[in-house]
Amino acid sequence: MKIESLEGWNIGLKKPAIIAGPCSAETEEQLLETSLGIKEIGIEIIRAGIWKPRTRPNNFEGVGEEALRWIQNVKKETGLKFAVEVATPKHVYEAIKHSVDILWVGARSTTNPFAVQEIAEALRGADIPVLVKNPINPDLALWLGAIERISNVGVTKIGAIHRGFSSFKQTKYRNLPMWQIPLELKRQLNTIPLICDPSHICGNRDYIFEVSQNAMDLDYDGLIIETHRDPENAWSDAAQQITPETLGAVLKNLKYRKPTSKDRDFIAILGELREEIDHIDKELFEIIAQRMDIVEKMGLYKKKNNVTVFQKNRWQEISESRNKWAVELGLNPEFMWDLFKLIHGASIRRQEFIMNTPIDKINGAT
Ligand code: PEP
Ligand code: MN
Repeated sequence: MKIESLEGWNIGLKKPAIIAGPCSAETEEQLLETSLGIKEIGIEIIRAGIWKPRTRPNNFEGVGEEALRWIQNVKKETGLKFAVEVATPKHVYEAIKHSVDILWVGARSTTNPFAVQEIAEALRGADIPVLVKNPINPDLALWLGAIERISNVGVTKIGAIHRGFSSFKQTKYRNLPMWQIPLELKRQLNTIPLICDPSHICGNRDYIFEVSQNAMDLDYDGLIIETHRDPENAWSDAAQQITPETLGAVLKNLKYRKPTSKDRDFIAILGELREEIDHIDKELFEIIAQRMDIVEKMGLYKKKNNVTVFQKNRWQEISESRNKWAVELGLNPEFMWDLFKLIHGASIRRQEFIMNTPIDKINGAT
């Protein structure tokens, strides 16, 4: 796949690339006023949803094509560039016809390979940057697949937007960030610009700053932030939008750190610390291997005595003691419990294998 890094896009975006604008274009006046407010803080690319994929019907579904004419007018008046979401081939043709500068594929579309393929076909031969949001479910392959489909028709200016993953579990965020997924995407496609969408991760303007800072600390290439002249009265996503003034403050207060340093002392000290970490990780692996040996011995012993793999009371004891140890050691008990459940799950699977496999076939197999 040939994917250009931001510098190759030739639309004046450089790291950290900031895109801001309303969730939805509502009226020409709202679009113009919001855009002017954003321009005032030095941002040149405005986002505006005009076809809104709503989870349930009867919510505001965007004003549609009419807003493309507003965009053209605002472009003429301000010189700003515009990004819009496209979900069908018709959206692609109309947006390009009305000189939209950047397209993005929404999270709901990315989940559907048929929809993405149709969008991709409509993009064949077009030289326009396309940003692909992660699918709403935490499936890296679907995200990669959508990027691949768009790359396959010859688009090279492709970026990825991380907008979080929906979850049944109630958390402080509207969509769980699951940072490891976008970071793995970036590992696999190392030139792709990775842009964080804190607005759709948070669902609440109070957390926009902290999530934006997290993204900057993870060396993201940019941010896309929903911004509205009057957020409380926005026609969609009112709770997560911020004013251009607040956006200015967020961007000013963010700490932009460099991805690495050429300083000799820095390199030497970090090198030593990394060696220590390598050492500790190796010990951790050796200890897990020792633990697994004992797990096997226990499995054989339970098998010999015809006792189940799992004992409820023991599990209760384990959960209490491990939680207590985590607290005593100053570790996050929730994280340690998640980690422990992975180790314990592998142990259970190993013992189940031992239970249900003839003794002479057990050694070495998993
Ligand atoms: C949006 O950006 O307004 C939007 C609909 O986002 P998502 O596709 O991430 O839900
Ligand atoms: Mn939105």
